[in-house]
Amino acid sequence: MRIPCPFCGLRDVAEFSCHSDAARIRPDPASSDTAAWTDYVYNRANPRGPGSEYWQHNHGCRAFLIVERDTVSHAIIGARLARAENPANDALLARAQKPAKAARIAKGGRA
Ligand SMILES: [Zn+2]
Repeated sequence: MRIPCPFCGLRDVAEFSCHSDAARIRPDPASSDTAAWTDYVYNRANPRGPGSEYWQHNHGCRAFLIVERDTVSHAIIGARLARAENPANDALLARAQKPAKAARIAKGGRA
């Protein structure tokens, strides 16, 4: 299986790690709705067919991607940068990066 990283090109899946389902919607952090948080943290839909997942290019540019993948055939449909869609993804990226790189990103630099 190969993933098309927007920065590095077509790379082997061994260079990446899968993080989570990208279609889940996180509850408002200020919310104390226990049922909503329990559902978000513990329940997974495990859909059959095309879906989107967060992947990180650990052994490359370290960027977080949203990869569209068919869970039946494992065919990669496409990949795009996660932070391009939602600036809130910068927090996820900053936690996974080395401290110096995270500070550079927080100042608006490249990942
Ligand atoms: Zn890359």
